[in-house]
Amino acid sequence: MQTDILIVGGGAGGLAAAINAKRASARLNVVLAEAQPRTGKKLLATGNGRCNIMNAEAAPERYAGDAHFIAPALDYYKAEHEAFWHEAGVPLMLEDEGRVYPRANQSNAVLDALRLRLRELGALETTGFECARLQKTKVGFKAVSSAGDEILCRRLILATGGCAGKGLGENESFIKLLSPFGHTFSPTYPALTYFKTDRRLISGLKGVRMKGEVSLYNGGVHLQSEKGEILFRDEGVSGIAVMQLSLKAAPLIVRDTHLSLMLRPLEDANELGRRMSLYKSRPLRELFTGCLNRMLALNLIKLAGIAPEKKACELSQAEALKLNALLTSWQLPVTGTGGYSEAQVMLGGARTNEFCAESLESRIVPGLYAAGEMLDVTGPCGGYNLEWAWASGMLAGRKAAESL
Ligand SMILES: Cc1cc2nc3c(=O)[nH]c(=O)nc-3n(C[C@H](O)[C@H](O)[C@H](O)COP(=O)(O)OP(=O)(O)OC[C@H]3O[C@@H](n4cnc5c(N)ncnc54)[C@H](O)[C@@H]3O)c2cc1C
Repeated sequence: MQTDILIVGGGAGGLAAAINAKRASARLNVVLAEAQPRTGKKLLATGNGRCNIMNAEAAPERYAGDAHFIAPALDYYKAEHEAFWHEAGVPLMLEDEGRVYPRANQSNAVLDALRLRLRELGALETTGFECARLQKTKVGFKAVSSAGDEILCRRLILATGGCAGKGLGENESFIKLLSPFGHTFSPTYPALTYFKTDRRLISGLKGVRMKGEVSLYNGGVHLQSEKGEILFRDEGVSGIAVMQLSLKAAPLIVRDTHLSLMLRPLEDANELGRRMSLYKSRPLRELFTGCLNRMLALNLIKLAGIAPEKKACELSQAEALKLNALLTSWQLPVTGTGGYSEAQVMLGGARTNEFCAESLESRIVPGLYAAGEMLDVTGPCGGYNLEWAWASGMLAGRKAAESL
C-alpha cells in the first residue's frame, strides 16, 4: 500500500491527526493504521465511559512537560476545536472545574462520530496493522507490520500512545519505533493512579468514599496538596484528589513518601472538641455518627490506641490529641502506586526538545511527526490528556498535510 500521509496508532491523537490532515488538504491520501482490531479502544474507557473530552481551563502550565513546547498545539486547538467538533457533529457541554463532555454523555458517541467523519473525508482506516519497524526511503518512509505487511508513505505521524491502561492498546511501541532514528526518551512512570499504603492501616475501609484534602510529602518536605474525592481501596487510597498527586509523586515512589489526609466531613480541626462536649456520654465508637463513615471512625479510634467503648468524657488529653491528629492529618506511608494497569496516563516519553513545537515534526528525521501521549507531556485528571491528544494530533496532521 502507498499513501501520502500514514498515521500509526488509531487512538485520540491518531484520529485527530487523520481528520485534520484531510481537513487541511482533501486531495492527499491519508491512511490511519491501528494495531488492534478496532480504533479508539482506549477512548471508549475514558471518563468512566462518558469521555471527559477536554478542559476549558487547559493551559500549558497545568501539564508536566515543557510549557513552551505544549503551548503552540494548545493554542491551535483553542482556535480550531469548535469547528472540529461541530463538523464531526459532536456538541459539547461544560461541567464543574472546566471539564467538558460530549452532550451525548457517552464515549462511543465520540468515537462513532470521529470514525464517520474519517470515512466521509475519504481517509482509510486499516486495523490489525501493528507497526513493528520503520525505514527511511527516498521519498519518505516504509512501515512494516509484525505480519510483514508494508505501507509506503511520504509523511509519517506516530501516535502510538503510552503504557497506561490494561487491554486498551497500551505499549512501548514509541520507543521501538523512534529509537532507531536516534530519538531519546525521558524516564516513564505510571501516573494518575492510586497509592498503595500499609494495608493494616486501612483494613475494612474498601469502598469508603469522601471529600477531603490530601497532601503529599517526600523526605518530610511538603510537595503538593489536593482537595477532592478520596476513595479507599483494599491496598491503598484512590479518588481524584489522590490521582492528581500521583502525577507529581510518580518519580519519587516509594522512598520516604507519605500522604497526609484531612477528612473533610469534619468542619474544622475543633470538631473532636465540639463533639466531646456535646455528646459527653457517648461511647467513642458513636461519637462521629452522622459525620464520618462508621468503619473509618472506628479505624482511627483503634489506631489512636483507644478502646472504642470508652466514653467521650473519659478521654484523657493525650488520647484526644492523638485522635485529633489522626482526624486532621492522618499519615499514610506510601509503599507504591497502582502501576500501569491502573494508571490513566504515562508520565515521561519521547523527549520534546527533539520535536519542533510549531509543527510536531522531528528535528532528527524530517517528515516524521509525533502526537499524543507518547510525547513527554502529561496532564492532570479532568480532560487535559485527551485535550493534548486532540491538540497535538490536529497540529501534526495539519502540518504534515501542509508540507506536501
Ligand atoms: C481508563 C482511562 C480513562 C481515561 N479517562 C480520560 C478522560 O476522561 N479524559 C482525559 O483527558 N484522559 C483520559 N485518559 C487518558 C487518555 O485516554 C489518553 O491520554 C489518550 O487516549 C492518549 O491518546 P493517544 O492517541 O496518544 O494514545 P492512545 O489512545 O493510547 O492510542 C494509541 C493507539 O495506538 C495503537 N498502537 C500502539 N502501538 C501501535 C503500533 N505499533 N502499530 C499500530 N498501532 C499501535 C494502540 O492500539 C492505540 O489504539 C484515560 C485513560 C484511561 C486508561
